Amino acid sequence: MEDCIFCKIAKGEIATKFILETDHVVVFHDIHPLAPTHILIVPKEHVISVLDIKSTHAELLLGMMVIAQKLIKDYNLEKGYRVMFNGGRYQHVPHLHMHLLGGEEG
Ligand code: AMP
Ligand code: ZN
Repeated sequence: MEDCIFCKIAKGEIATKFILETDHVVVFHDIHPLAPTHILIVPKEHVISVLDIKSTHAELLLGMMVIAQKLIKDYNLEKGYRVMFNGGRYQHVPHLHMHLLGGEEG
């Protein structure tokens, strides 16, 4: 979708601290981290929010969870992590994304 920052990142039109890409998902570091590790797992498809998820997205969502599992291990977050979707007034970018937060504070 035009003028969507996460669509632009998915297409490589905006640079970011990129981690990995699959056929359906891009993964990068949040630009304003709220924890020592703060990663965004973002579908390439322009789905707006949790309320727009349909049964046809089942495989996509499972794929996002499998990526989260891998990142939790790769970044040694097993002792403390959060996996989160914001929505409504808590969601600032209207393109579905999963936050993975964790790591030692301080
Ligand atoms: P939300 O409030 O759930 O919509 O979260 C959007 C997140 O995207 C925020 O944590 C922002 O810091 C992050 N963000 C916005 N623009 C960028 C960008 N260009 N690269 C990386 N993260 C971004
Ligand atoms: Zn988008």
